Amino acid sequence: MLHLQNYIGGALLAPLSGRYLPNIEPATGQVFSQIPDSDATDVARAVQAAEAALPAWRLLPAEDRGRLLVRISELIERDLERLAQAESQDNGKPVGLARVVDIPRAASNFAFFGTAAQHFASETHFQEGVALNYTVRHPLGVVGCISPWNLPLYLFTWKIAPALAAGCCVVAKPSEITPYTAFLLSELCIEAGLPAGVLNIVHGTGPGAGQAIIEHPAIKAISFTGGTKTGEHIARTAAPMFKKLSLELGGKNPNLVFADCDLREAVQTSLRSSFANQGQICLCGSRIFVERPIYEQFKEQFLAGVAQLTVADPQEAGSRQGALVSEAHLQKVLSYIALAHEEGGTLLAGGQRVRLDGRCAEGYFLQPTVFEGLAPDCRVNREEIFGPVVTLTPFDTEKEALTWANGTEYGLAATIWTRDLNRAHRVAHELQSGIVWVNTWLHRDLRTPFGGMKSSGVGREGGLEALRFFTEPQSITVKL
Ligand code: NAD
Repeated sequence: MLHLQNYIGGALLAPLSGRYLPNIEPATGQVFSQIPDSDATDVARAVQAAEAALPAWRLLPAEDRGRLLVRISELIERDLERLAQAESQDNGKPVGLARVVDIPRAASNFAFFGTAAQHFASETHFQEGVALNYTVRHPLGVVGCISPWNLPLYLFTWKIAPALAAGCCVVAKPSEITPYTAFLLSELCIEAGLPAGVLNIVHGTGPGAGQAIIEHPAIKAISFTGGTKTGEHIARTAAPMFKKLSLELGGKNPNLVFADCDLREAVQTSLRSSFANQGQICLCGSRIFVERPIYEQFKEQFLAGVAQLTVADPQEAGSRQGALVSEAHLQKVLSYIALAHEEGGTLLAGGQRVRLDGRCAEGYFLQPTVFEGLAPDCRVNREEIFGPVVTLTPFDTEKEALTWANGTEYGLAATIWTRDLNRAHRVAHELQSGIVWVNTWLHRDLRTPFGGMKSSGVGREGGLEALRFFTEPQSITVKL
């Protein structure tokens, strides 16, 4: 059986304790690899390697740092098919999705920040004949990057690439539920010639390896993506140590469909924003509010689309819905379906676990599920489910839609469907969401600031924001 290894000091190493954890393929429910169950001793080793690499890495010209990152991007592109297969096996997502979303985006992350390294300059200003002020942006030093299971390589590289581009050395931990592509990335980093210790990847659980990273005194910043509860815990642990924190957390995103929208487009995109990756994208719009005059029409077309979403082996070309990531997560989502019934919802589609034949007989499959008739402030409409479950609710006024849209503790992303330009701007401005899409969804430009308001996070990733996060400004004043 495949045994993944840590990547520390440029080498692939077993955990010092010799302990491994089973890694399950969600589509089959079977163990397919073993991953290091690393602890504080492995993290200490990784930090030591990163500290040793730091002096040379931070002084390497940005052009050379950038070239190495672009080389990693090229190797990801070369191995796209292998990485897509690995991501699908490890996460349960359709391989077709990994091929067009996850892996190309991981390659773009390295290419984007590899080139950005060369364009990141700091400010200077002349103070009216008396002084010259300039700002130096120092790399923070050794930083920690911790990522979740839903977009494994995509989100892992979204943190690592800017940290490296900024001149930091990294100790990173992928989710223990989906570690495979992070391991394959370590092999590509060795092939690309990344200097030893610049990037270290330590596998293991949150309480084991993750906790050791957030507690380590030499780690100056934590860039974390994951659940809001974990984010709270990380803030409580790391803030008193004055670590810099970037927290990308949960969401409960609204999708507002106004009567004047392009209905066909709104329905087609809402199917994706509801069920892509089995609804396990932090940006999925799980609360669909539809203006009453088109409610029945939207519902009919949406349900017709849901009926076309084939639940199948994620390795099959026609699979539109793969497996959920784990049995525990499937049970959590099923508990919300039970709650939706208790809270008085009417089931319009799905609601049941799916048992497939053959190799997927023990997999974690669920029908795409739609409810209506739930109060906008009930638990199902306020709490993050993170699965293929959405609610439909009619609204009568813009004000009502906005009140409901903003009525959760979260504020990550929102979508607006309308042809009225004034309304689009007005509503976008009133939405308590870090990201607003108008007549589109998951339209990403890596230059834009990415992140959430309220309990969806602190700080922004993307573009220059990420490079600023991983550096510390120092102001120098020269008297003339
Ligand atoms: P999670 O919080 O359980 O785990 C995320 C990572 O944190 C994992 O690597 C885990 O091992 C680690 N971790 C857990 N406990 C830790 C600890 N004590 N110290 C350090 N690390 C620890 O989240 P998950 O279940 O993997 O991911 C799903 C969540 O992620 C959802 O809430 C989703 O909304 C959120 N998410 C947010 C974004 C965003 O950009 N805002 C993107 C994707 C996912």
